[in-house]
Amino acid sequence: MSDEPITRFTSAGGVRVYRMPLQVFPSLRAYAHLVIAGDYVALIDVGSGQGPSNDQLRANFTALSAEWGERVSWSDLDRIIITHAHIDHHGGLNMVRQLTSAPIAIHELDRRVLIHYEERLAMSRFKLSVFLRHAGLSEEHRNRLLAMYGHSKDGFQSLPVEDLLKDGDQLDQIFRVIHVPGHCPGQVCLQLDDLLLTADHVLPGVAVFLSPEALTASTGVDHYLQSLRKVAALTGVRLALGGHGRPVHDLGAAIKRIEATQEQRIARIYEACNEPHSIAELTALLYPEISNYDELLALQKVGAYIEYLDQRGMLAIDNLGEVAASEEGVPRYRAA
Ligand SMILES: [Zn+2]
Ligand SMILES: [Zn+2]
Repeated sequence: MSDEPITRFTSAGGVRVYRMPLQVFPSLRAYAHLVIAGDYVALIDVGSGQGPSNDQLRANFTALSAEWGERVSWSDLDRIIITHAHIDHHGGLNMVRQLTSAPIAIHELDRRVLIHYEERLAMSRFKLSVFLRHAGLSEEHRNRLLAMYGHSKDGFQSLPVEDLLKDGDQLDQIFRVIHVPGHCPGQVCLQLDDLLLTADHVLPGVAVFLSPEALTASTGVDHYLQSLRKVAALTGVRLALGGHGRPVHDLGAAIKRIEATQEQRIARIYEACNEPHSIAELTALLYPEISNYDELLALQKVGAYIEYLDQRGMLAIDNLGEVAASEEGVPRYRAA
């Protein structure tokens, strides 16, 4: 088990939610949640399947019996829900599938990642390569980052998904499904009485990852901001539990802080475009210290904010002639 203990929360209706810590990457802690309502048992997310994550997930299950007096075993599971198809949330499924035949549910827009994983990975790498070329990275630099991208996501094998989630669904008469595209196309929050499992949509103190919609439809800054407002409008949420970071006792205030941070980021990129810059130049300017995988994430983030500003007519292409003349052209954006 990891050094952090399991935490228990109880909903207004008496449903028990166990928050189970998992070290999903060397520098990233995530949470899977086990929900027990009478005889019904659901597992929400399964960790990365990498490093100690699988061992910790099994150890957490053992600890629920030994330390919390819950008589649950893997064969008691009625349901597995994947909140979104990012590897730190679904990577453990190959192991979990060996332990239980409980049906897997995921939002309809993220299903393809689980059932056609190898194809999605190849297509994502292809689109990312095109994005990085237009961002202005050299071939050598692109190849270095793309090799890292593949390495972090290899190892998962496609598997069947039994059930699809849609916005407004009442899953198993326990969870209300709220579709919140932005961080991921099929990102969902799950409302359970007065608890909200926010997955990676609302993360206090953790910078949510956003990438341009040009890479994946139903992601991007605009979708994310709209989905924040959707969650802010929910009523009766006493406590929000995310996929990373600490529990949130005031969801409204947390969303306001996230919105303010997003506005600052948009303004910062816009200001940086007082001088014309490519996405690679902007990334180097705004994140001079980063390298490796963090650099790849930063390039996509900057791309997402540039896309948001560009969609609103706030940017112009400084070297339009060059870009229009050749597929190799690298657009340099300036504030319009
Ligand atoms: Zn995620
Ligand atoms: Zn995550």
